This record gives sequence, structure tokens and C-alpha cells, in this order.
Amino acid sequence: MKLPEFAQKALALIEANSGEAYLVGGCVRDMVMGKTQNDIDITTNMLPDEIEELFVRYKTLDVGKKHGTITVFIDDNPIEITTYRIEGGYEDNRHPKSVHFTNRLKEDLSRRDFTMNALCYNDKSGIVDEFYGVRDIQNRCIRAIGEPKKRFGEDALRILRAFRFMAQLDFFIEESTISAIYECRGLLKNISPERVTEEVTKLLLSNNPVGTLLLMSELHVLENILKPLSEIEQNAIENSNPTLEIRLAIALKKEGLESLCVDKKTKARVKMLWDNQHFKINPDKQSVKQKLNELSYEEVLLLLDYQALLGEDNKVQRNLVLEVEQNGECYSLKQLNINGDEIVLNGVPKGGKVGEILRILLDNVISGRVENEKSALLECVKNMQCVVVFRGL
Ligand code: ATP
Ligand code: MG
Repeated sequence: MKLPEFAQKALALIEANSGEAYLVGGCVRDMVMGKTQNDIDITTNMLPDEIEELFVRYKTLDVGKKHGTITVFIDDNPIEITTYRIEGGYEDNRHPKSVHFTNRLKEDLSRRDFTMNALCYNDKSGIVDEFYGVRDIQNRCIRAIGEPKKRFGEDALRILRAFRFMAQLDFFIEESTISAIYECRGLLKNISPERVTEEVTKLLLSNNPVGTLLLMSELHVLENILKPLSEIEQNAIENSNPTLEIRLAIALKKEGLESLCVDKKTKARVKMLWDNQHFKINPDKQSVKQKLNELSYEEVLLLLDYQALLGEDNKVQRNLVLEVEQNGECYSLKQLNINGDEIVLNGVPKGGKVGEILRILLDNVISGRVENEKSALLECVKNMQCVVVFRGL
């Protein structure tokens, strides 16, 4: 296997100082699958203080030191180096009460969640595979290490990791692991919304989340957050690019969105999609521009994508939106060729009426009654002033 050079450097430095060191976890799983790795983790028998001393020439971070992890930056790449450890008892179905360091690699591997994530590797030993992880990867199987129910009881986040891996890797979950997930699903209420959000987001952004979402629904996992998907919604997810707002809008229940920690902008966009789901934009420029003014260019495109995925034929509207934007046609106050100051200079007193006049002008431009040209707009302002005086406003 070909390791990245910076990982090679870290392993070599530990070994040159009589330590044991292996790449471990997801990065080895990904290498076995021939995929490029995201983050690199190293497991070692050296203690965190020793690692800090050894990597003194490099930038290090000690935020995880209590749990045995020192992050080392080699050629700007972060590597998490963690001392072999076992976890002593768990509280709140998520956090180990204590961690103990050990000098036995197998003990460290046995605390990991799934067989495919308990592989480790260095050039000297090749792949170390204590729990038949390679066989499971070849069979595309996610299998808990040890007694599944005990493992999900220790840390219920593993339930969501199983589904997230299923979606990302296109694997299936082994039967006794599924049964344990079903029995332990209630423990998910103890997992912080941040971690639930992280896993749900990764799952939804994977290439093929539908099968996983259906299984979760069947097993009543996160059923207060995820809704059972109709056939149309399943197809919509399948046919969509992995766009978070759209996938959240299709997959989440209303109360699900409230309970997840989705950032403000994404949350607002999901709500926008729900609120406008049944609003049909007429296939003419005026209607398109009105919607562009109400929402924004990106949001209207997002809405049209969402509605199209749910079965609406709106190609004409989409092309009109693109055309309006490309031509720089006016649909918002800031695109009007006149501003508030110019209106005041033309005799309208400062105050609320200026804004009202600007909105009427925009309305006239959008409907095509007035050209978006200064002289035409000023003419229109003059006419309006007569009306305003006449109406005694
Ligand atoms: P990804 O590709 O998303 O990074 P990963 O498997 O590498 O997936 P990480 O969160 O980077 O996931 O964790 C690295 C390794 O630490 C895992 O492969 C696994 O061995 C172990 N691990 C992570 N989270 C848990 C957990 N909740 N319970 C047990 N082991 C875990
Ligand atoms: Mg990882």
C-alpha cells in the first residue's frame, strides 16, 4: 500500500525511537477500498508526553491529550496520534468514564466500532486485521466488534455511524448488528444534537442515501427527525445532486429541522422550500421577476430544482430566470436606475413615501409599463406626485 509521505514521516520517526506505530481506522479502511483517505490517524504505544517531545520540531496541538491524542502537523497535514487505549465504563451512552493507556495493540483495536474500522497498517507488519475487517470490507458488510448491543449501549452514536457508513460506502449492516441497533435506538435521545446533525448531514450528502433512509424508517431510528419517504420523495433524492438544503427539505420532518443544529442560512432555505413548495411560478418574465425580487437568484433556482424533483415541469421558468439574470434585467430595488436621493431631489419629502415610490417604480419596471431608464423613471415620479397630491396622501 502506498502511504502519503507525511504519514510515512510520522511512522518513521516513532519507529526510529523504538516505538510502535500504525495507521489505523478509517484511513486504512479507505486504503483497502482503493479510495483516497480523508484524515490520517496513527495509533502508538508511546505516551502523549513522549509524542509531544518526539515531534517538538513540528507544530502540535494537545486538545485531545487527556484522551491520549496529540495532533501533529507534518507539511501542513494534520495527523492525530493516539496512544493505545482502553475505555473504562461509559456514562450517558456516549462518553467513556475514563480511559486507560495500554501497550497492547489488540486492546486498542477492540474498543473501535466496526470491524472495517479496526484495521491498522505499517510497512513492517502490513495490515493487522484482528477482527476480519478485510473480509467484511470485501463483503461490503458493517459489523460491530464484540457484542453489538453492549457496544451501542456504550456509545449510541455508533448507531448513526453505521447508517452513515452504509450510505457513504454502499455497504449493508450485518444482521445481529441490525437487531442491536433496533433494540438500542431509544438511546439516541442521549446523543447531542450537534453529533446527530453531523452524521445525518454526512448521510444525506452521500451518493446514495435512499436505501439507508428506508432502513432507518423501517427500524424506527430517528423517527422524530426523519420522515417516511414516499416513492416520489425517494426518486427525488435519488435524482438530486447532493445539495444539503434540498435533501434536508425532502427527508426531514418539521420538528426534525428544529431539533437539528443546522446553520441559520441552510435552515432558512429549507423553510423557504417548504413554504413555497406549492407556489407555482407562472411561465412569464413578470412572474419570474416578482419571485426573484421576493427571494433571490440562488433561492429561486433552488426552489425550481426542488419543485422539479417533486414532479413539476418548470423548465420554461428556469430558462427565464437564467435569461433575466444573464441580461442583467431589473427585478430588485438596487437594480433600479434611480435611488432615494434622486427622488428627494425631485421634490418628494424625505421619509416613508420615498420607499413607497421606489417600490411602485420597481413594480412598473417588472411589469414592463416603464423602462428602467432614469428619464422614464423620473417622469413616472412626477406623475405619481400629482396622484399623491390629488389623493391627499
Ligand atoms: P471518516 O472516513 O468519516 O473519517 P472514520 O472511520 O475514519 O471515518 P473517524 O471519526 O475519523 O471515523 O474515527 C477514526 C477511527 O476511530 C474510526 O475508524 C474508529 O476506529 C474509531 N472511532 C471513531 N468513532 C468511534 C466511536 N464512536 N466508537 C468506537 N470507535 C470509534
Ligand atoms: Mg477518519
